[in-house]
Amino acid sequence: MTASSNPPQADESLARLVAVRSRVASAAKAANRSASDVHLLAVSKVQPVAKIRALYAAGQRAFGENYVQELEGKVVELADLAGIEWHLIGPLQSNKTRVVATIAQWVHSVDRLKIAERLSAQRPKSMPPLNLCIQVNISGEASKSGCAPDDTVALAVAASALPNVRVRGLMGMPEPDIGAEATRGQFKLLANLFNEARSQVPSMDTLSMGMSDDLEIAVECGSTMVRVGTALFGARVTS
Ligand SMILES: *Cc1c(COP(=O)(O)O)cnc(C)c1O
Repeated sequence: MTASSNPPQADESLARLVAVRSRVASAAKAANRSASDVHLLAVSKVQPVAKIRALYAAGQRAFGENYVQELEGKVVELADLAGIEWHLIGPLQSNKTRVVATIAQWVHSVDRLKIAERLSAQRPKSMPPLNLCIQVNISGEASKSGCAPDDTVALAVAASALPNVRVRGLMGMPEPDIGAEATRGQFKLLANLFNEARSQVPSMDTLSMGMSDDLEIAVECGSTMVRVGTALFGARVTS
């Protein structure tokens, strides 16, 4: 089947996926890293399920959502897609942990022990352990979520003792629009914390950092999972 026999949506999704993968591959090469060490999480928040289906058809399996209610709806609507993997990347309140523990494979936004404890207690025993990343406030902005850099290692160690979760790594977001040098500085802070934490928590293998506009810098600084929305789906249209 030639590409031109696909519906336009499928062609566009495939082209965007190929372009993002090639950006990741070039960045990995420039950093003397293997492209296969950098996983791609497609951030599908606010995007219609038809676009998720098109990207899935193009080969993408891991999708990230920010809002629990939207995640819930999409998990149900897309239950027919075998092997699809759901990551919650947005803030998580205690009263929403139960549903997340039941439907997600990953949570990137754990910022305190209480959330990890609830997720572990509420994870169904019939499911594999829930993969967790500790979100770190690397920008230092008071408005941003995440635990303080100084508390990160202790939180990772404490969460790693819980039975039904697996601490996989750290997640962080730099302050927007601060330029490449300052962005690099905030990514390096996260990478250093990651190296420190994983010397005590051997299950940690994931450094979740980098988005559409800064994935090259993130890969240069050691990212193993970039979270890409706009570059894969086009602009988010909100009403
Ligand atoms: C929206 C979002 C992304 C993706 O951002 P883009 O700039 O669209 O690639 C990544 N991570 C988090 C936590 C987000 O909220």
